[in-house]
Amino acid sequence: MSTKQEQPKAKAEHQHDFRYYACVNLWDNGETTGVIDVWRCTVCHVKGIELRAQGLSNLATETGFPVLDSPESNWVVFVCTAQEQLRYEVLLVHLGDVVEHECVEKTGPIKVGSGYRLENSKDKFHKLQSIEPFLNETMDLSV
Ligand SMILES: [Zn+2]
Ligand SMILES: [Zn+2]
Repeated sequence: MSTKQEQPKAKAEHQHDFRYYACVNLWDNGETTGVIDVWRCTVCHVKGIELRAQGLSNLATETGFPVLDSPESNWVVFVCTAQEQLRYEVLLVHLGDVVEHECVEKTGPIKVGSGYRLENSKDKFHKLQSIEPFLNETMDLSV
């Protein structure tokens, strides 16, 4: 009979084991403008992302994921439609964070409100959207 006890792996003491988890298609005016690849650690479930978009090559999967989420944060897409060409970026934010953004149509701080949405509902040029409801779905970036 073995007396060897299986030690439960402490979540803080492991090498993250990332597996491809899901993708989010980003949709702009009827066309795919980018794809977010989401990778998740099989042990602790933290998620890292990689954005595939025109003119952008992110080598996150080769270099590891420098930024990872936590139970207190979410990956969100931040959209600005102030210019003719829609602009967006993928950010890791916490509730209450203020997104740094230079813009002619900025009417106030871009603050992350409840549900990881833009707190200022009067802002018609910007949008924040958590990627969580859109895993393996298409997210329309229009504001
Ligand atoms: Zn992990
Ligand atoms: Zn803007």
